Amino acid sequence: MVRSNRVIMTIERLNPEYEILDDIFSTYLLANVKLKRLATGFDWTEGPVWMGDSSFLLFSDIPNNKVYRWSNEIGLSTYLSPSNFANGHYRDQQGRLISCEHGSRSLTRMEHDGTIRTLAKGYKGKKLNSPNDVVVKSDGTIWFTDPYYGIISNYEGYKAEPELPGAVYRFDPATGSLKMVSNVLDCPNGLAFSPDEDYLYISETGKRHDPLAKTGLYRFKVFVNQKVSKSYEYLELDVGKPDGFRVDTEGNIWTSAGDGVHCISPELKLLGKIHIPEVVSNVCFGGRAKQTLYITATNSIYSIALNREGIQSP
Ligand code: MG
Repeated sequence: MVRSNRVIMTIERLNPEYEILDDIFSTYLLANVKLKRLATGFDWTEGPVWMGDSSFLLFSDIPNNKVYRWSNEIGLSTYLSPSNFANGHYRDQQGRLISCEHGSRSLTRMEHDGTIRTLAKGYKGKKLNSPNDVVVKSDGTIWFTDPYYGIISNYEGYKAEPELPGAVYRFDPATGSLKMVSNVLDCPNGLAFSPDEDYLYISETGKRHDPLAKTGLYRFKVFVNQKVSKSYEYLELDVGKPDGFRVDTEGNIWTSAGDGVHCISPELKLLGKIHIPEVVSNVCFGGRAKQTLYITATNSIYSIALNREGIQSP
């Protein structure tokens, strides 16, 4: 059943609150821009993705089982209802929407005619848990995380016992093969590649099965055979934990955190923060020059223009 929610669409312009911890961060910011709250009244926003050829943003309101579309010209409209409790999204090189669905416990692709095709729903005869977030590599392979959050309760999907460990998978659309890339983390969540794709960043939001799991940002080496290292580098955030994040063209990581968006250098140094009035779940770059950061945060969506260009699918 789709529950009704009240969505408020008056754009609020807020003075951004920055925290500059390294001088370079101030060069990433623009003078005279506002932090815009584009819409509010949702229950838990997630999975932002910019559709560059059509100039609109898609994002999930997971508990309400919807995907919304937002554009500067038209404002807000419903894109998918129900959405199978979709969470994270990305686009492939053909511009097709790739989605993680809690409800169907699968990875899906929306074809150009609008039909939704299941790409992956199980591994070695067992059901995926609840695919959470996804990224498409330049070779066309689709990498996604599969923690348990969508099956813990009926709030963001359908309650069920997990059959597989929390893991990261790589799906190859050319062959249909699904490979487990890593199960080092308890609840892998957001993920993104470095600009050269030599590294894969994964956020850990876990402690569901492993009480010693350390939440934070993990960086793994990606080998030419498409496997990732067992060892990793690790950064613990100073406030909260990272959920979704994106990388800019110079390799800086723009991640959700407990107090807003943190900007972290490729050396894993915290450069600065943009404080957001609600807990941030995810971000993506979009806009004409991919220099606007769109932010999903609890009940709302926000945007802020930056002097950075994001790595983003079409
Ligand atoms: Mg997530």
